[in-house]
Amino acid sequence: MRIINTKVIKENVKEMFLNANVHLSEDIKNALKEADEVSPIGKNILNIINENIDVADKTNTPICQDTGMAVVFLEVGNEVFFEGEFIEDSINEGVREAYEEGYFRKSVVKSPVFDRVNTKDNTPAIIYYKYVKGDKVNIKVMPKGFGSENCGQTKMLNPSDAEQDVVDFVVESVSKAGSKPCPPIVVGVGIGGTMEKSAMMAKEALFLDINYKEKDENLQRMREEILTKINNLGIGPAGLGGRVSAIGVNIMTYPTHIAGLPVSVNIGCHVSRHEERSI
Ligand code: SF4
Repeated sequence: MRIINTKVIKENVKEMFLNANVHLSEDIKNALKEADEVSPIGKNILNIINENIDVADKTNTPICQDTGMAVVFLEVGNEVFFEGEFIEDSINEGVREAYEEGYFRKSVVKSPVFDRVNTKDNTPAIIYYKYVKGDKVNIKVMPKGFGSENCGQTKMLNPSDAEQDVVDFVVESVSKAGSKPCPPIVVGVGIGGTMEKSAMMAKEALFLDINYKEKDENLQRMREEILTKINNLGIGPAGLGGRVSAIGVNIMTYPTHIAGLPVSVNIGCHVSRHEERSI
């Protein structure tokens, strides 16, 4: 049994949100720097995006004014015992301190429909727990902006539907989103499970390195086909036209019921921010 004080989790969550809001992961930075855009206005937008990323890095300031809703995936080993404050309180405290210390915008409202009063500390976070084998705790954090979050889609396809129907749904979702998710985007896709499982996989897929190689040849082919079709839509950087509409398509799958084929799309904007560490 490994005992971990939840203060350690709080400190890590805090550091990770402070970092993720300011520094993008290398895969996304490189993809934006190396993007081969043909449209002059698209090239110009990409230059501005890259300059913004460099300035944020150097001056330790947020990459975007929307510092997102705090999403946390916590994978807890079965040999771990938490001592101290309740784990969920510690995670929220980490978020609270990061958003205060980093001068990040607080964007959470308590009642989603009625008074929409700001909680003023960017909590509560959205927290997902997984119980895994071992004595480690894996923490993934994502400050999720809602320009992109609002463009997510879920569809329960028919079990008789084919690969092409999945591809068409994902491309159609991106086409409908247009400029709203601040392209170039990263597209997270969840296929299988139940309705909500597919949606969670679509979100979790945004943590994958956009350059990962899928072991399943069919899925790898599907990723490439979706990316090509999205980039043929002509949305372009900032939605002002061009070839570089997306820089990555990440897919997660799970077994599903004989009678269904759930598919979800979760879009990450050009500041698709996330960080992961294991303690
Ligand atoms: S979608 Fe992304 S880039 Fe656009 S405003 Fe929101 S966080 Fe910023």
